Amino acid sequence: MRALLVEDEELLRLQLADSLRTAGYTVDEAPDGREALYLGREYSYDVGVMDLGLPEIDGIQVIQTLRDEDKHFPILILTARGHWQERVAGLEAGGDDYLVKPFHTEELLARLNALVRRSAGFSSPTIKAGSIALDTSAQRVTVDGAELELTSFEYKVLEYLMLHPDQVVSKTVLTEHIYEQDCDRDSNVIEVFIGRLRRKFETVAQLKPIETLRGRGYRFVAPDESR
Ligand code: CA
Repeated sequence: MRALLVEDEELLRLQLADSLRTAGYTVDEAPDGREALYLGREYSYDVGVMDLGLPEIDGIQVIQTLRDEDKHFPILILTARGHWQERVAGLEAGGDDYLVKPFHTEELLARLNALVRRSAGFSSPTIKAGSIALDTSAQRVTVDGAELELTSFEYKVLEYLMLHPDQVVSKTVLTEHIYEQDCDRDSNVIEVFIGRLRRKFETVAQLKPIETLRGRGYRFVAPDESR
């Protein structure tokens, strides 16, 4: 999952970026509204964290502009205590949820996780597909209750595919949602992760939930429940 983190207080931004990365997000950071708008227009995000009081362009204006330009990724607003009018304006501009500073990182992560899942159409933190269950809070995957050991990149690839079931997801899209902007992004690496995921599903449960569509990408299809 790729997150846009917009916060002008540098220390807070660095701490949040660190927590988000530890939680498995790919994070792009913006210290002001101008950079936030640039990144929001340029890249495809799964979720955003937006401080409202920002230099250059304020957060409400950034959200409003992105929504006007049909950027619909869920956005969590950060506001100062007591500024309730600001929260209302932020939600009315197109924000999806808010947190009042100071807050606990655990609450931020839980809210972001819920926003990402809900925008993909899932209400429970565990996404089930036949015998496969992906726990987005613990970042664990089980097949018939037995844990499938995955590296963090394998997990990220599988999570993205399972949040977009029955859809063709191209290597480019997977790469965008998994690597950070400055990374040397090699989409061939995606093939390696997909190959490993497939082998694990086959070895553990004789399942083939990930299809390859030549030249187009990959598709997650829930294994038949009746097997
Ligand atoms: Ca601020």
